Amino acid sequence: MTRMAPERQALREAVAAFARNRLAPALPLDDGELSSEANRDLLKGAAELGLPGLLIPEEYGGGGGTQLDNAIVAEELGAVDAGFAAGLNLTMTVPGLILAAGTPEQKERWLPGIAVGETVLAGAMNEPSVAGSELFDPRPGPESGYRTRAVREGDEYVISGAKAQWVTNAGVADAYVTFARTATDRAGVESTSAFWVPAGTAGLSCGPRSRLLGLRTGFHAEVFFDEVRVPASSRIGSEGEALRLLMSTTPGMAVGLAATFVGVARAAEDLARAHTASRHSWGRPLREHQAVALDLAEMAVTVRTARLLVHEAATALDGGGDPSELAVLVPAAKTRAVDAAIQCAQTAVRLHGATGVTTGAGPEKLLRDAWTGYPCDFTREMLHLGIAAALPAV
Ligand SMILES: Cc1cc2nc3c(=O)[nH]c(=O)nc-3n(C[C@H](O)[C@H](O)[C@H](O)COP(=O)(O)OP(=O)(O)OC[C@H]3O[C@@H](n4cnc5c(N)ncnc54)[C@H](O)[C@@H]3O)c2cc1C
Repeated sequence: MTRMAPERQALREAVAAFARNRLAPALPLDDGELSSEANRDLLKGAAELGLPGLLIPEEYGGGGGTQLDNAIVAEELGAVDAGFAAGLNLTMTVPGLILAAGTPEQKERWLPGIAVGETVLAGAMNEPSVAGSELFDPRPGPESGYRTRAVREGDEYVISGAKAQWVTNAGVADAYVTFARTATDRAGVESTSAFWVPAGTAGLSCGPRSRLLGLRTGFHAEVFFDEVRVPASSRIGSEGEALRLLMSTTPGMAVGLAATFVGVARAAEDLARAHTASRHSWGRPLREHQAVALDLAEMAVTVRTARLLVHEAATALDGGGDPSELAVLVPAAKTRAVDAAIQCAQTAVRLHGATGVTTGAGPEKLLRDAWTGYPCDFTREMLHLGIAAALPAV
């Protein structure tokens, strides 16, 4: 671990202690689901450390932290449980949308509750019958994009539609930030609008909890909007602005997720080092066989290069870096981190022999969590296409 400023080092140590002493003991032994009560209790602990509001400015009760702080926090949590880390990351980074486009009144109304951990957020965007990658459709027509509609009626919008079964925090969130089309005759990029919908609003409901390959401690479910009425003052930003806003707030989310998967890669490296030191074959610890030693070295390089890229992306975001460079760095950090997690978890599974494929032993959970990161947020292909589009010709 590279040397850090003392305040950031203190944050890292506090989060590492929380992850070790509260998160790890709360995890179901069979890698089953975390109960919503256990999740709330953990979130309370995270709030005591100021994590939900870490990125919210101090004037709204937040910590006024940076994306590099976010990366430090997410890696420590991800090294213990990526499912919990990814859920918290959502509450931490969706407010970026409100900070970027909310009115002063919206900021006063919503941000303090998020900052103190009272308001858990979900971002309900993807839809069951629309490919998530449609968001990047470069065609100018209205035919692609979300189907959920928001129709203006006087001082209200009426939202109707369904969001896909992977909405993180669905069922446990206190508020849903959702995207709906406010026009159908224009391309999605010009006709998608963002809304704040409190849990419990008439017509809002969630499907059963989805069972995923990994991140099983997280909460994921479909979200249904059956003529949900919200005041016009619940719209975040202008009509038609939501996709552009998403692109400006997604970087923080991507950095948090990327760091979470650096944590997964690091946990795999740690497990592999411990196991190959304690298990013996041919009269010596496994790690003293050169073939195994080379695997350990490869993992060490993979974790550190992924972390460096994530920190570079976070630092560039904090410095308000050149947008064309950020358009390369941020997706690169997310894909590299997930690749690193998959590679390291695979090696850890292999180096553990049969223990590696045994539930409860550790490496197999890391491999499942790592793979679940692949479509989480945006897929590797979409991110790489974005990188290619951002690269200058010369
Ligand atoms: C753990 C988890 C949490 C999630 N949380 C949320 C959430 O909180 N809110 C939310 O709204 N959504 C959430 N999602 C959904 C996620 O954002 C989408 O799954 C993701 O954007 C991919 O969309 P898709 O699954 O529809 O895949 P598709 O878009 O159908 O893609 C399928 C495959 O085709 C490839 N592909 C598609 N189009 C192209 C193309 N033009 N060129 C090359 N390859 C292409 C993709 O890369 C992928 O490999 C979550 C998903 C997961 C797994």
